[in-house]
Amino acid sequence: MPGLPVIDLSGDHHIHTRLCNHARGEMEEYVQTAINKGLQNMTFLEHLECGICYDHRTWLTDKLFAEYFREGKRLQKKYAGRIGVRLGVEVGYNPVAVPQLREMLARYPFEHVGLSYHFYFDGNRHLNMVSRRQDNINALAAIGTNHVLDEYFNGLIRACKELPCNKICHLDAGLRHMPELCFTKRHREQIEQLLVLMQKKKIALEVNTSGIELRSHPYPAEDIVKRAHELQIPLVAGSDAHRPDQVGRYFMQLARQQTTLVH
Ligand SMILES: [Zn+2]
Ligand SMILES: [Zn+2]
Repeated sequence: MPGLPVIDLSGDHHIHTRLCNHARGEMEEYVQTAINKGLQNMTFLEHLECGICYDHRTWLTDKLFAEYFREGKRLQKKYAGRIGVRLGVEVGYNPVAVPQLREMLARYPFEHVGLSYHFYFDGNRHLNMVSRRQDNINALAAIGTNHVLDEYFNGLIRACKELPCNKICHLDAGLRHMPELCFTKRHREQIEQLLVLMQKKKIALEVNTSGIELRSHPYPAEDIVKRAHELQIPLVAGSDAHRPDQVGRYFMQLARQQTTLVH
């Protein structure tokens, strides 16, 4: 049975820390876990959002980014030769804050930029499209699942054009906690349009193993990963760890889902 294309699993390139206010653990704990799990490389990918009205901060402030780089650089030196540590960012798209987001991406020396789209604006406040919180799910369901998903994929397409980035994170994770979610023909067309754009702009696709926990397959689904591979879009593995023990989670299982096992 043909499986996923082979993905480099020697590094985990999507790792959060307590700094984002919804993850646990110091940066050093994540580095030590990655070393213990035999990884050769890792990328912190902390949350950057701009202009979001939400009741709980889930991203870093300027002060926290200063701490992120200070501690990150110390760890890069301390663990040099044992593991490569990159200091990246997961930038959340906001269609009305593009100049500010561009400015923030330019201001910091990020070594890797992952692009996501987390927050939908309902005209009054932001709703988190990837959250499992019931209040988000109810409000988004009331707006209409198809419409929100349409906006989600449109947002990612626009974001690819408007923001510099190295990869798209958890591409099909929008509304992931919505029961019985299914993509329409229109959503499939949007995904195809997005992949073609990524190919053109040399943007990689993240294969995010947090999906395995929720639905036994990574984000995005296998057919999307295969299509990306067909378009020669590079694939990048990431666990989306929000706790140190989640570093490299399900990488063995991902290896088993590949056509050929990697060493
Ligand atoms: Zn997060
Ligand atoms: Zn995310």
